[in-house]
Amino acid sequence: MGSFSQEFPFGIMDVVELLHLRIRRRQADNAYTDCPFCGDRRGKMNVNFAKNVWRCNYCGEHGGMLNLYARINNTTNSEAYREICDALQAGDTSWGYGGAESADAYAGVPVRDPHAGRQPDMGIPQAERASPQEIHQTYSLMLEMLSLNSAHRAHLRSEKRGLTDEQIDSLGFKSTPPYFLCRSLTERLIKQGCKVEGVPGFYLHEGGYWTLKCSSRTAGILIPAVGIDGLIRGMQILLDVPFKDRDDPPEKAGTKYIWLSSSAKNMGVTSGSPVHFIGNPFARTIYVTEGILKADIAHHLLNRSFVAVAGVNNVQQLGPLFALLAQNGTELIIEAHDMDKYSNEMIAKGSSRIYLLAGQHGMECRRLTWNPNYKGIDDWQLALRKEKQQKEGENRNLQKGRVFFRQEDGEIPEDISDSPYRRCRFRIYQLLFDADQKTIPFAFKGIRDLHKAGYEQPPASEYQLVCDSELAFPKDWKDTEILEQISAHYGNRVPESYKGRPLASSDVVELDDETGRRYFYIDGRTFEPVRFSPFLAKAMKG
Ligand SMILES: [Zn+2]
Repeated sequence: MGSFSQEFPFGIMDVVELLHLRIRRRQADNAYTDCPFCGDRRGKMNVNFAKNVWRCNYCGEHGGMLNLYARINNTTNSEAYREICDALQAGDTSWGYGGAESADAYAGVPVRDPHAGRQPDMGIPQAERASPQEIHQTYSLMLEMLSLNSAHRAHLRSEKRGLTDEQIDSLGFKSTPPYFLCRSLTERLIKQGCKVEGVPGFYLHEGGYWTLKCSSRTAGILIPAVGIDGLIRGMQILLDVPFKDRDDPPEKAGTKYIWLSSSAKNMGVTSGSPVHFIGNPFARTIYVTEGILKADIAHHLLNRSFVAVAGVNNVQQLGPLFALLAQNGTELIIEAHDMDKYSNEMIAKGSSRIYLLAGQHGMECRRLTWNPNYKGIDDWQLALRKEKQQKEGENRNLQKGRVFFRQEDGEIPEDISDSPYRRCRFRIYQLLFDADQKTIPFAFKGIRDLHKAGYEQPPASEYQLVCDSELAFPKDWKDTEILEQISAHYGNRVPESYKGRPLASSDVVELDDETGRRYFYIDGRTFEPVRFSPFLAKAMKG
């Protein structure tokens, strides 16, 4: 293997750097990095740069340097070779690592790659952005030339996304082209009279030809960002394999969306993070959310008009759009960001900017809140649709006749106390968001997030009593069974008399019977016993 490496214009450490593997220790002819295969984060993967081979001492995976790149990016060794050469020729170690743009979009600053010091302002010549019409023409034709592979179509049709074939086709989703087709695709576009210079994603290759910046590392579904005028302004990619930063903890999902951009390339251009619009430009009510695909899905589920920003704080372009909408007759803006807005300071800030902007253009703004068990408006709507489909003919999951809830089933009959039933009082406490855009870092999250936020126990003073009732159930039931019943009863379609939100993570449930009072913190489907001081919690509303 060692002799082989002489033929390569690069070594395994170049590959390590391209892949953003974290180097923990370095020795004379080898180094130890974290392993991208088993997720080890103690530096168990040995990378030998004398022999250009690697082996993880923890999971046992091993191979050569092309294989390292190819396996992570799900491609072949020969493709890996071409891509690595191309990346290194450009002196661009951050190549393909587009997480940067979404991260910057998030922060709302001009797009620049923070991972590398050799970026546009460091002397890589950039093209002047083409006109909106030119960009639209090039992208439209490019989408026509591309296809949507069956795995991608299946994903979009899956329960998670819930789109129909017609919707998928009308939205124009396509699969990114493989690296080896980028050059010929670009040539065909130029031949057809399209301008590629100044269109995000295209750049002038060192070989003297124009091409598109797509690789196995950035493979995924192309999602067009369309302006209110119907012109395609940009393209996002829903990545097949999310990017992970070397400092990310293993449980972190990584970056799922990037922009199609060529700002790190010769004569390239940044995506500019355009806002997306779908629906009726003259609607009286417009929803604003984060994420183009989310807006597309929610539009089809709700039949409402949506504006999507890429990154909650990427709101500069909302100004001109809001001005136009106000002129068109829009009166109400509905902020429909993910439910993280209750725990994430950054999202909360983004929401308040939307309020401010709407007000500046004389429009009212409201915050949309839904069942916190669903993160995004699309998740929530898909769940509602699924529930509706299942509802027909199906018995309620609740063991009717075996459980009585005083609040909904009326007074629990006295005579059941003679049967093998027993009663228990229960109370539900939920986090109170009294101030505008207030966030609580563990809101709707599990017990680990509570601890991470610095609390040993749920802080009762942040909670409000929302339900104080009683239930009766078979005598032999344990606490867990009682809690599961309460969870099912208040988890989804809540009874009308109930004043709280659907039961979700971070809520506290109290059980109170002859054995005493005990408290449980809801963490997904489990109930963590906690200490809680109900006297500090706010009283129930009227
Ligand atoms: Zn490993």
